[in-house]
Amino acid sequence: MSLIRQLSPHVADLIAAGEVVERPGSVVKELLENAVDAGARHVTVEIQNGGMTFLRVTDDGCGMAPDDAETAFLRHATSKLREAEDLAAISTMGFRGEALAAIASVSRIDLLTRTADAGAGTSVRLEGGTVVERGDAGCPVGTTLIVRDLFYNTPARMKFMKSDSAESARIAAVVQQQALAHPEVAVRLLRDGQEALSTPGDGQLSSAIYCVFGRQFARDLVEVESRWEKFTLRGFVTRPAATRGNRGAQHFFVCGRPVASRLLASALEQAYQNQMTAGRFPGCVLSLEMPPSLLDVNVHPAKTEVRFLKERDVFDAVHYGVLGALNRTPGRPEMELKPRQTPKNPVKAAQNPAFFKSMDAAQYRAFAKTLSEAPRPVPSPEAVRQVFETPAAPKRASAPPPQPVPAPAEHFAAPAALPRVEPPAQTALPMPEAPSYRVIGEALDTYILVEQGDAVLFLDKHAAHERILFERLRAAESDLMAQTLIAPVPVQLEREEAAAVLEHAALLRRFGFEVEDFGDGAVMVRQLPADLEEAAAETALQALAADLLEGRAADPQTLRDKLLHTVACKAAIKAGWHTDPAERDDLVRQVLTRDDIKYCPHGRPVCITLTKAQLERQFKRS
Ligand code: ADP
Ligand code: MG
Repeated sequence: MSLIRQLSPHVADLIAAGEVVERPGSVVKELLENAVDAGARHVTVEIQNGGMTFLRVTDDGCGMAPDDAETAFLRHATSKLREAEDLAAISTMGFRGEALAAIASVSRIDLLTRTADAGAGTSVRLEGGTVVERGDAGCPVGTTLIVRDLFYNTPARMKFMKSDSAESARIAAVVQQQALAHPEVAVRLLRDGQEALSTPGDGQLSSAIYCVFGRQFARDLVEVESRWEKFTLRGFVTRPAATRGNRGAQHFFVCGRPVASRLLASALEQAYQNQMTAGRFPGCVLSLEMPPSLLDVNVHPAKTEVRFLKERDVFDAVHYGVLGALNRTPGRPEMELKPRQTPKNPVKAAQNPAFFKSMDAAQYRAFAKTLSEAPRPVPSPEAVRQVFETPAAPKRASAPPPQPVPAPAEHFAAPAALPRVEPPAQTALPMPEAPSYRVIGEALDTYILVEQGDAVLFLDKHAAHERILFERLRAAESDLMAQTLIAPVPVQLEREEAAAVLEHAALLRRFGFEVEDFGDGAVMVRQLPADLEEAAAETALQALAADLLEGRAADPQTLRDKLLHTVACKAAIKAGWHTDPAERDDLVRQVLTRDDIKYCPHGRPVCITLTKAQLERQFKRS
């Protein structure tokens, strides 16, 4: 007798549902994602009894046509994948058409929906995944989904639910995350009739942060905005002085979805390494955009974990992006006189399960704490601006005059044009003249020693020069100084590399390279950047060719930055070389008067301080 039997579709649905829909918070997460995917500008979530008995999500998105309103609840029904090539999107955005089917199978649902071109709306009622009623209904454009009696038909699951207040805290955390992930959507949460959250949806992350975390958190932030290769990082991180005792305030979004990732946390934290005491953790709201093909979100059915194909690149993009932002805040790293405990391989270190020891309980407590505070009304743009305006971020002259934000009650009125809240300016402030200093000399042909005030500064001349060149090239102030070679140098490349180099000959000329086709993968180099040795021509061109090939799909700005990194690195004076005094003095002057020269483009510090007090402690004078 055969023992193997196929599960009935209903049982299969229940099992799948258990994976996607663990608790009311996961239902809210899926419904909010759908609302955002549907292009909603306003979404309201209402819950009663921790979402167990009643949960309603209302959006003003595109709505569903009458037939789709039923199809949507079938397993693997999705409008987001049509063609075979879209399948890649399954692994990236996690459109698997499972959520509605899963939710429906374990609850009673009422759906009301209407598209803009339909005269009337559609209503559908389901019980345990089966349609029990359908008809026309008068309703506004958009979708309202009511989920009642969650897990009424799976008592085993019901047993795992915590108290109503614990479940509603989780829901609030989910809603907060979506509000942060989508500042362009006005998100509202009503808990047992009380407003617990409301964001203006003005497209400004600063407004969303203010509404979610309040004034105190918002005032301690530094803005991050950086692009590196195919990665764009945006958001805010806490100032080094405003770190906290756990990771509860770290919020990461990848391609618009909230994720938990050890790799990202580790990349963030290591950017604070020289500026934060052990046992403290930075907070952040950071959003990483990257090609979806480099991402796998299906590690976990609820799509909250991600796997990155190029972990090292992701790490670097976040690490250096944050470093760059912290970099713009005043202060130089001090010399560490105790041995540093830097993990050799940060990516590996982040994978160590012990890394997140403090995560769950602490994170949860942190959420719970934010939630126990009184609900915050939508602040006026002026209030947000005041908080986000730090001494380091001057007001922009063109900031529009403040205007009142519509009250939350108007959420579903015609979207009013909200005034833009100007983000803190990114440009570096003009530095005052550097306090007087004295160049002591050069040690080990690598470090320039300078005395300034009560401290000795150590400048890494390669890192400093590299950064200065990089900034100069990036500002496009001038083409790089070039030297015409007396005898052209032939360089042998792979054919593909040579083709890329020749195709971009005009661009490379701006960086000081003049190349000509020599046939068969060889190119003749007639001119090089002034600081580049002839002998380095080959490795420099190979590196540039690699940049060009890798950056083929990248936008011009990203490609340009990448090339600039390479040129700056190859053309910068090398550690170990002798530097002439005039060049050395110029480097020192630039490092001490400009505040954008604190780290090399790869994030290594340019200058380290050893204070008199530190020395005195070492010599036991104090
Ligand atoms: P997925 O989001 O992976 O496509 P779901 O089960 O969450 O799968 O949703 C199934 C389909 O139902 C979606 O592809 C979409 O077409 C439709 N849908 C769900 N929610 C909404 C909504 N709020 N507004 C418009 N369409 C929706
Ligand atoms: Mg969905």
